Amino acid sequence: MNMLAKQVDLVIVGAGAAGLATAIFASQAAPDKKIVILDAAKKVGTKILVSGGGRCNVTHTRVIPRDYHGSQKIIRNILAGFNVKQTIDWFAEMGVKLKEEDTGKLFPVTDSAQTVLDALLNRCKALGIEIQPDSRVRQIMPMSKADDQQASGPFEIQTDTGNVIAQRVVVCTGGRSLPKSGSDGSGWALVKRLGHTVTDTYPALVPLVLDSSFFHAKLSGISHEVTLHTHVDGKRVDSRTGSMLWTHFGISGPVAMDASRFWVMAHGQGQKAALFCQLLPEMHFDSCEKWLMDQEPKMTVSRILAKYFPTRMVEILCDHVGMGADRVIGQLNRDMRRKLSHALTALALPVVNDRGWNAAEVTAGGVPLAEINFRTMGSRIVDGLHFAGEVLDVDGRIGGFNFQWAWASGKQAGEGAMRALMDDDAGTC
Ligand SMILES: Cc1cc2nc3c(=O)[nH]c(=O)nc-3n(C[C@H](O)[C@H](O)[C@H](O)COP(=O)(O)OP(=O)(O)OC[C@H]3O[C@@H](n4cnc5c(N)ncnc54)[C@H](O)[C@@H]3O)c2cc1C
Repeated sequence: MNMLAKQVDLVIVGAGAAGLATAIFASQAAPDKKIVILDAAKKVGTKILVSGGGRCNVTHTRVIPRDYHGSQKIIRNILAGFNVKQTIDWFAEMGVKLKEEDTGKLFPVTDSAQTVLDALLNRCKALGIEIQPDSRVRQIMPMSKADDQQASGPFEIQTDTGNVIAQRVVVCTGGRSLPKSGSDGSGWALVKRLGHTVTDTYPALVPLVLDSSFFHAKLSGISHEVTLHTHVDGKRVDSRTGSMLWTHFGISGPVAMDASRFWVMAHGQGQKAALFCQLLPEMHFDSCEKWLMDQEPKMTVSRILAKYFPTRMVEILCDHVGMGADRVIGQLNRDMRRKLSHALTALALPVVNDRGWNAAEVTAGGVPLAEINFRTMGSRIVDGLHFAGEVLDVDGRIGGFNFQWAWASGKQAGEGAMRALMDDDAGTC
């Protein structure tokens, strides 16, 4: 044992949303215990500050397991430990009043993510939790073995700024999205060395890049409601409706971000992934063709579509199909009408890539939930090790669900670690 190392009860690796929540709940459960949060970044909380366009979408009015990808039963249990009402009350206690928007998203009334970060940091300070920035954790070394030879705490945690010895450790190192915030995936290497597995990881909630020969750039800035269908190896795996934004590189907006993980994962696994856009979400190919045939024959295509799309978009879409927008609908031959119906209901989007980790909001994949006990978020592989947040194999859809996961798993981990610590103490008395 390194006698010069600082000795504490609980080390939390990572001072993001999950790490801060873990620390607060742990300290409230056992105020006399010494808690230190070690973070790689020079300044903590960068991701919270940029979240929700700088407003921090703290949670959502309705959160259910199906809002997440990952082991549904375990997610259900963890979410049940800290519901939306408790999140709202918890933030109110910390002086952050939340407001609900039409979409169901909840933001601080100040519309400033800084309010959220300040409240969490102030609560940590008031509870005597030490936050040590610029302290990248290089290794977590179990210092003993349990009776069954399972690796076990206490742990020696090696950082660039000195070592710390802790009875228990909670790993809250996040995923790989926005690496400049400090979340570079290094947490997974730490826990792999301890015997944990990590599934393949992919950028999720990420804008998608379309082939440069496609027409998207001409529509840059236009957004409208669509249904996106993702097909993998010819089979539909996902369909979702929402707002899509055309950009200079491809597509973004909530529906594209939510759909991205299916394309990205399938592509990454060498499968054939295809994305189809239903521009008129309420119509399918047959009903669209019939609807076009039912129109007043002398009406132009641009007039018919004007109530759904901006003029520029109608012109570009017609050009894509190979006809002028000023064509009279009654003069379209069957082939043209079918081409137009196809473009309106199943437009193939030529996705070539995603925008990468710098543009991704979350990571799909991580430490499998099967490797933890959801009651304490404790590891089933290393006694004394716990997890919370995005480091785990859970990713939520857009709308405040990922922060709700961070708060809920943080509460479970913080309280679970402290209960276990008190049990450890009782056992050694
Ligand atoms: C641009 C953007 C906008 C977003 N907006 C929203 C939103 O409005 N609502 C929502 O619900 N979600 C949003 N998200 C997702 C949400 O921010 C994350 O899911 C959430 O912050 C994850 O919290 P976490 O604590 O698990 O991980 P992180 O926030 O990634 O924190 C991990 C921390 O661990 C530290 N760390 C990593 N490795 C080490 C190491 N080896 N040693 C020491 N420290 C280490 C990092 O420096 C970091 O501070 C957004 C994400 C992005 C990128």
